[in-house]
Amino acid sequence: MADVLTELPGVGPSTAEKLIEAGYLDFMKIATATIGELTDIEGISEKAAAKMIMAARDLCDLGFKSGVELLRQRQSVWRLSTGSKELDTVLAGGLESQSVTEFAGMYGSGKTQIMHQSCVNLQIAGKIYADLEGVVEEELEHPKAVYIDTEGTFRPERVVQMAEGLGIDGQLVLDNTFVARAYNSDMQMLFAEKIEDLIKGGNNIKLVIIDSLTSTFRNEFTGRGKLAERQQKLGRHMATLNKLADLYNCIVLVTNQVAAKPDAFFGVAEQAIGGHVVGHAATFRFFLRKSKGDKRVAKLYDSPHLPDSEAVFRITEKGIMD
Ligand code: ADP
Ligand code: MG
Repeated sequence: MADVLTELPGVGPSTAEKLIEAGYLDFMKIATATIGELTDIEGISEKAAAKMIMAARDLCDLGFKSGVELLRQRQSVWRLSTGSKELDTVLAGGLESQSVTEFAGMYGSGKTQIMHQSCVNLQIAGKIYADLEGVVEEELEHPKAVYIDTEGTFRPERVVQMAEGLGIDGQLVLDNTFVARAYNSDMQMLFAEKIEDLIKGGNNIKLVIIDSLTSTFRNEFTGRGKLAERQQKLGRHMATLNKLADLYNCIVLVTNQVAAKPDAFFGVAEQAIGGHVVGHAATFRFFLRKSKGDKRVAKLYDSPHLPDSEAVFRITEKGIMD
């Protein structure tokens, strides 16, 4: 049932209508909005926005959490195998829910392959690892994926090939994967915002993929003069993704391009696009690079609780493996 927005202080029927029109359908959406976002709506002052947000946070029970509660939330984290044991080990078990994981690398380094494989593995119970005390079993029943494709590289036939490689029905994977082709950053952001509606419509979305996160932004906002605007929009997009991960216990995967680092004399000569906005919003950050033949190297270089390390995996006809 929809929340009754007029229960919030200072929200009468006409303000409620405006909020709904702007997409703020429930308390949670308001609780996690910024003051700036709400004051974009005509007739809402900064003071009123702040009051609404605080009240909505109380109603949604968002605020300080004790360490015990946080530990309980951590226990509900579940993991998905990448297909490579070595890569899973670097991730301490697999791709983590309630997090955003970024794979950056040059063209052909295997980013899109990992995204395809994740959609396949999501449909295999044996590739999902959960702490049975922390995760309600039904939560992971009939999981579905959303794949936002900005480069036109999603290939259903590749999904089928990988599924068959693992002995499962490719059609099952395709039936449980929503694909949206985004031609520009506005479409990309809108699709991400619509995922919540899919979930509320009864789809158990547990995996969200943005392949690629930055290409539309990079194409549309060229030149120094556009950088601030680009970063602001990208920041909003990352916030949407983080919210999905947190609120719905989803795994969020994003791919990213790399650019030459102009001032690098030592160390990495390449860096992921998106600067601090992406860096701070992604929980796990990987660099992928090509190695001999079908081998690829994944280097984890930024994680809150895991050491930096490398894994070698392979991309074969059957998919990602050791
Ligand atoms: P990107 O990092 O640009 O997204 P991809 O994930 O698309 O790169 O990786 C492309 C590479 O994956 C190809 O160069 C090839 O080595 C490998 N690959 C793609 N499809 C297959 C397949 N059907 N069988 C074996 N290897 C494949
Ligand atoms: Mg790709």
